[in-house]
Amino acid sequence: MSSAPQLQPVLDRIDADFDNCLERLFALLRIKSISTDPAFAGDCKAAADQLAKDIATLGFSAAVRPTAGHPAIVASSNGKGNGGSRPHVLFYGHYDVQPVDPLRLWHRPPFEPVVTDHADGRKIIVARGAQDDKGQLMTFIEACRAWKSVTGTLPIDITMVIEGEEEIGSKNFVPFLEKNKADFKADFALVCDTGMWGPNTPALTTSLRGLVSDEVKIRAANRDLHSGVFGGGAQNPIRVLTRILGSLFDDNGRITIPGFYDGVKDLPPDILAQWKDLNLSPDSFLKPIGLSIPAGEKDRLLIEQVISRESIWEVVKAKDALEAYARGDYSVVPAVLRVPNQVYAPPTGRPIRFERD
Ligand SMILES: [Zn+2]
Repeated sequence: MSSAPQLQPVLDRIDADFDNCLERLFALLRIKSISTDPAFAGDCKAAADQLAKDIATLGFSAAVRPTAGHPAIVASSNGKGNGGSRPHVLFYGHYDVQPVDPLRLWHRPPFEPVVTDHADGRKIIVARGAQDDKGQLMTFIEACRAWKSVTGTLPIDITMVIEGEEEIGSKNFVPFLEKNKADFKADFALVCDTGMWGPNTPALTTSLRGLVSDEVKIRAANRDLHSGVFGGGAQNPIRVLTRILGSLFDDNGRITIPGFYDGVKDLPPDILAQWKDLNLSPDSFLKPIGLSIPAGEKDRLLIEQVISRESIWEVVKAKDALEAYARGDYSVVPAVLRVPNQVYAPPTGRPIRFERD
């Protein structure tokens, strides 16, 4: 593929068409495609319709396809999917956005996009979804548009799949993919739902940590108990839970579960050297969130702790206990405690195994 000589005219084309690119992005940003709230289902459909219409102008066969939830867009550049002689990429993005509450924390209306000045002097776009994921999504679509308008064709075959439920865990999207997997055969996949390393440092993400959620249920007595009668004698599941959690990490931040790190590979030395150069420090990373000391393995760089190492982000919420406290039932010893739990798997390691006794 000798595409390099064409690159400069394509980039020039993007610059020349910049205002129109921005207007197309803003039109998408104005749609309140909040997937979590059923009140915005119509807006989600409107975002899907608008995107499919826009992608069709690039010569793609583009369709809004129903799922059990918000619809997905499937678009193909050659109309027949995989199997041609050229490389075929499957491109993924999502058009749904996070809710905007609480509104009082916004400096301006979240669905009225503007270009504004950042404190550091850069121009930035402010709107809900601008950086997750409508901005990235439209960057790819605009790149296709510019390439096609300059060269008359695209350099590779492309299938796009754009979902509307990423912010709610892609619940209906996974069954949709399974059911239609023949439409998504490709040589490689390109996911645009990633970010830059920093304002001036772009990043190519080649793999991501996996995530496994589980729920641990601790049952003690066969009913909730009055603490004045049973306290001290009856086992309290909160006490059991805190003992378990307290033993998960040693003093060096290492997870103590036997075999937890089995098969987790160390980074290749050249990658580790590159990562060191990025200088991720507690000051730059933790200070803005009010922390100063990394919580992970002490003999690992902070960047390894958050990108490549397996970790447990232990308890998301101790549901029943919190509900009891919310009701003001401080004197109740709950019989059962359900604890959702999350484990991050390393991108270069093995799949997570769960063993149950
Ligand atoms: Zn996203």
